[in-house]
Amino acid sequence: MRLLLIEDEPDLLDSLAQALREEGYAVDTAEDGIDGLDKALTWDYNAIILDGMLPRLDGWAVLERLRLHKRTPVIMLTARDGSRDRVRGLDHGADDYVVKPFDLAELFARLRAVIRRTGTQTTTRLTIDRVEIDTAARTVRLDHQEIPLTAREYALVEYLAIHRGRLVTRSTLYEHLFDENESTLSNLLDVHVSNVRKKLGHDFIQTRRGHGYSIV
Ligand code: CA
Repeated sequence: MRLLLIEDEPDLLDSLAQALREEGYAVDTAEDGIDGLDKALTWDYNAIILDGMLPRLDGWAVLERLRLHKRTPVIMLTARDGSRDRVRGLDHGADDYVVKPFDLAELFARLRAVIRRTGTQTTTRLTIDRVEIDTAARTVRLDHQEIPLTAREYALVEYLAIHRGRLVTRSTLYEHLFDENESTLSNLLDVHVSNVRKKLGHDFIQTRRGHGYSIV
């Protein structure tokens, strides 16, 4: 799952990006509306977290222009007293909003909900042979026993499972699991794949040498 976070307050941007990465999302960031809109139009994100008050182009204008081209789920960050702002956001096609200062757990829950509502996932449970993945609870069970995975391992398993039966290229996995700064660490993916195999069985993820991975 890859997210775009558009926020101009550096402290909030850093801490929120960090918290989202710890949840297992790959996070791209932008500090103004022009850069944010550019990234939102260039890449396919699972969701965008968009601040309202932004330099160069405000959040509502970003949303309005984005909606001319794309349906990417958007959660807007709005000020406590800004009920007009929230209405404006929803009218411009925001999928949800949270009021600053917000509770991280609430933002994560709303994020999972908009991704579920608007994404390709129609069910929250995927069963592949002896492995069961619950994408709402973000848990994985092997023979009905919950297996602890790191956030990144979970993200890898979930992405391959949603695309099961298909070859997923290494570059696609990099794009979905890691953010721009990490994508140069080319053996990171192999480490995660190896760890998942140790936990869920060697045959759970198949390697298509030179091409990528798949779950059949
Ligand atoms: Ca702001």
